Amino acid sequence: MGPSYQKTDKIKAENIPPAVFNIYKKPLVIHQGHMQWLFDHDGRRYLDLFGGIVTVSVGHCHPKVSAALHEQIDTLWHTTNIYRHPKIYDYVEKLAAKFPGDLKVVYLVNSGTEANDLAMILAKAYTGNNDIISLQRGYHGYSSTIMGLTATQSYRMPLPVPSGMHHAMLPDPFSGIWGGCRDSISQVPNSCNCPGDCITSDKYVHQLSELLDNSVPAGRLAAFFAESIQGVNGAVQFPKGYIKKAYELIKKHGGLYVADEIQTGFGRTGDSFWGFQDHGVQPDIVTLAKGIGNGFPLAAVVTTKEIAAAHNKSYFNTFGGNPMAAAVGKAVLEVIEEEELQQNCKETGKYFLEQLMELQKIHPVIGDVRGKGLMIGLELVEPGTKQALNMADSTVIQEMIKDLGVLTGYGGRWCNVLRIKPPMCINKNDVDCAISVLDQVFDFYKKNK
Ligand code: PMP
Repeated sequence: MGPSYQKTDKIKAENIPPAVFNIYKKPLVIHQGHMQWLFDHDGRRYLDLFGGIVTVSVGHCHPKVSAALHEQIDTLWHTTNIYRHPKIYDYVEKLAAKFPGDLKVVYLVNSGTEANDLAMILAKAYTGNNDIISLQRGYHGYSSTIMGLTATQSYRMPLPVPSGMHHAMLPDPFSGIWGGCRDSISQVPNSCNCPGDCITSDKYVHQLSELLDNSVPAGRLAAFFAESIQGVNGAVQFPKGYIKKAYELIKKHGGLYVADEIQTGFGRTGDSFWGFQDHGVQPDIVTLAKGIGNGFPLAAVVTTKEIAAAHNKSYFNTFGGNPMAAAVGKAVLEVIEEEELQQNCKETGKYFLEQLMELQKIHPVIGDVRGKGLMIGLELVEPGTKQALNMADSTVIQEMIKDLGVLTGYGGRWCNVLRIKPPMCINKNDVDCAISVLDQVFDFYKKNK
C-alpha cells in the first residue's frame, strides 16, 4: 500500500525537492483513478476537473487504453527507432491522418518540453535563423533552453537562456490594456463585441510588429510559438482574429508558426480536433503531449516533409515512441472517435460555460468566465473590480472546493484562475455537481468575507 499519510509528509520534507509543490494545504495522496474520478488514501472520491493538468484525456485508467498497454507490456517494452515496430508505424500513420495539409511527418518524444525543444531545433534548421518569439505568460516547458520560451515568472529561474528569445505582448481580453472579445460563447463584460475580428487584435498585432521591427534582427526570425489557448496562464483566449493576423505577420517576416497543442489538442476545444483550427491557421510545426497518452509518457512533433528534410543530422531518442507508448497513443485516438469525445467536449463544455456564467451573475468574486469546449478558466477577482483576488483567498476557495469533493486546477500570474480541464468523458451530471459545489463555496465566501 505504500507509506502512511504522515510518512509522506516526512518523505516530502526529506527527499522531495522544495520546488516540487503540492497544491493543497492538506495535500492529497491519490491512490486510484477511474475515468473522471480519483480516490485518495482514505478511499474518498473526487470529481477530477483538472485531469492531472489536462493530461488525462479520455479518462483515468480507461479500460480500452489500459488493455492496450497490458497487451503490449506482455509482448515487448522496448525497441528504439533503429528498428521498426509495427505498432509504432501504425500509430504514426493514424496520428498523421488527423492533421490537415502537409503536416505528415511525426517525431515521437517523451514530454512537452522535449517536443518544444525539438520544434525549436527544426525551426532553426529550416530557416537558418536563431530568433524565436513567444507570448508573455505562455508556458512551453521546463529545461534550460525552453525556459527562454516559457514566459511565466513563477517557472523561470534567473539563468541565462539562449540568445534571440523574445516575448510579445499578451493579447488578453480580460486583463490586457485594450480589452477585447473572443470567439466563443464566452464574452468579456464591458468590452467590445465586434461582429468580425476584434478591433483590439490589430492593436496587439501592432505590438508584435513593433517587436519584430525593433528587437529581431532583420531576416533572422526562426519561429513564433503560441498555445492555441494559454493553459498554465489560466485558459487565456486571445481576441478574435489575433492568431490569424499574427500568423500572417510572422510569415511575412520569414518565420515558422509553431502551434503548441499540448493542452488544447485532441478535440478538447470542441469545435475542432486541434486548437489552431479554431484560429484558421495552418502551422508549420505542431507540438503534442499530455492528453496524447492519457497520462502515459508520450509526446510528438508533427511537421511537413520539407521542414523535416532540413533536419539533416541523425535523430535518435532512446525512449521516444516506444511500443508501449504507441499502443497507448493508438488506443487514445480510437477512444476519442468511438466515444465521440470531441463532440462531448463541445456540448458539455458549452453547458459548463453557460452554467458558470449564471454563477458569475450572482457571485461578484467571479470576474471572468472563459474558454472553449472543456478548456475553461474562471478568473477570481476582488469583488466588483478587475483586480486579481488575493492569493490567500484564492487558495482557501480552492481548498474548500476540494474538501467538497471536486478538484480544480489553478493558474494565472496571481494563482487566481480556477482551471477546469477535466477528462473529456465528463457529463452534464458532473457539471451540475461541480456547479452546486462552486455555488456553495462562493456563497460561503461571500458571507464570511
Ligand atoms: N506546453 C504547454 C502548453 C504545457 O502546458 C506544458 C506543461 N504544462 C508543456 C508545454 C510542457 O510539457 P511537459 O511538462 O510534458 O514537459
